[in-house]
Amino acid sequence: MNAGAPDARIDADRLWGDLMALAEITDPQRPYTRRSFSPTFLRGRAWLADRYRDAGLTVRVDAAGNLIGRRAGSAADAPAIVVGSHSDSVPGGGRFDGIAGVVAGLEVARALADGGIALAHPLEVVDFLAEEPSEFGVSCIGSRAVAGLLDAGHLAMTAPGGETLAQAIERTGGDPARIGAARRADIGAFLELHIEQGPVLEARGIDLGIVTAIVGITRVEIRFAGEAAHAGTVPMNARRDAAVAAAEAVLAVRDLARGFADRGEGHFVATCGVCEILPNASNVVPGQARLVVDARSERAEAMSAFVARLEAALQAIARGNDVALAAFRIVSGNDPAACDAALQRVLQESAERAGYSSLRMASGAGHDAAYVAHVAPAAMLFVPSRGGRSHCPEEWTGQAELAAGAQVMLEAVRRIDGAPEPVSRAAPRSVTRNSLRSGREAGNP
Ligand SMILES: [Zn+2]
Repeated sequence: MNAGAPDARIDADRLWGDLMALAEITDPQRPYTRRSFSPTFLRGRAWLADRYRDAGLTVRVDAAGNLIGRRAGSAADAPAIVVGSHSDSVPGGGRFDGIAGVVAGLEVARALADGGIALAHPLEVVDFLAEEPSEFGVSCIGSRAVAGLLDAGHLAMTAPGGETLAQAIERTGGDPARIGAARRADIGAFLELHIEQGPVLEARGIDLGIVTAIVGITRVEIRFAGEAAHAGTVPMNARRDAAVAAAEAVLAVRDLARGFADRGEGHFVATCGVCEILPNASNVVPGQARLVVDARSERAEAMSAFVARLEAALQAIARGNDVALAAFRIVSGNDPAACDAALQRVLQESAERAGYSSLRMASGAGHDAAYVAHVAPAAMLFVPSRGGRSHCPEEWTGQAELAAGAQVMLEAVRRIDGAPEPVSRAAPRSVTRNSLRSGREAGNP
């Protein structure tokens, strides 16, 4: 930014008012719920499109159903600086996940207009379609398409009512027959403000998180096959109890993941969130057990090593319990996405200039930025989440904390616009060996 450049300030009250107004567009039976493609979601989008227009932005919906507000730049053919996130929610979610980044982007555009500041680059505020797992069994639909990774297989997926994803995208104003047109090659920089959804910033008393990488997520299905038997008559040393093997497997997952996290492998977590035993009866020795492991790492090599060591550990557990490891199947997997190093620096300098502390940290949740990173330099800014709570009605970020994040976004946009090499197009931006195309997945955020 040039010395003497006009000042521009986020209006914290206006930003907060927008956030709360959009949050209140919720399924009244279950606050806060704005599921993608639902009538409530479409009402929220209509509201948002009006706010875009009020801010002087040109509104369009791209082929993938992303809602975009655009402010023209003064330089011909300059790539766009894009800010945004998503306006859909999980069922019974919070008021901040997703929309914080959308309304912050909108406020950045308004603050620039209020300050009479023209940018050389176009500025776009994007509400990506259906970031959360949708009824179609796929997440990050809009940003996936921006990366050119939403294919005919995805479009043919159906919701329980029978509607295809293509039909649903059409309902939002998209044009699925031209889905390839949603792929972007003209984004110079992408910035996503998001709530942290975890406890780190608050616990350490730090204002903002600058994301280094968005974790890759691997899900593994595990099945043990033993032998169902009478719980009263079969002696302890003659059992083939699949539940005991499953219990040992849960501990093995925890211990292995702790090992990776403690060894300086960066952010590494793993969870056994699904555990089923059959026949699940009090007087029967369990003959079958099924687990699903969700493992997340910011380093692809760490994930590969974890999966290999987990399989070896499970083989040993199976042998020790006289059961079979009947399945060890990778259900879904994607690679971590590195945030652009130059944009991370811009965010850090912007935070310093605005007087806020910041911390470099990985994102343990999936985000639209991970997909945009396939086609453009992308980075993320986290604002604190009270108590680390998210995906629940208690989700909370204070007004001043949100405004701080938006102010830093504003600073960053101006720095990117004013830098002599305005966009780091040549920077290496992704560590992907991409397996994101893999079909129906539970959804990662
Ligand atoms: Zn989100």
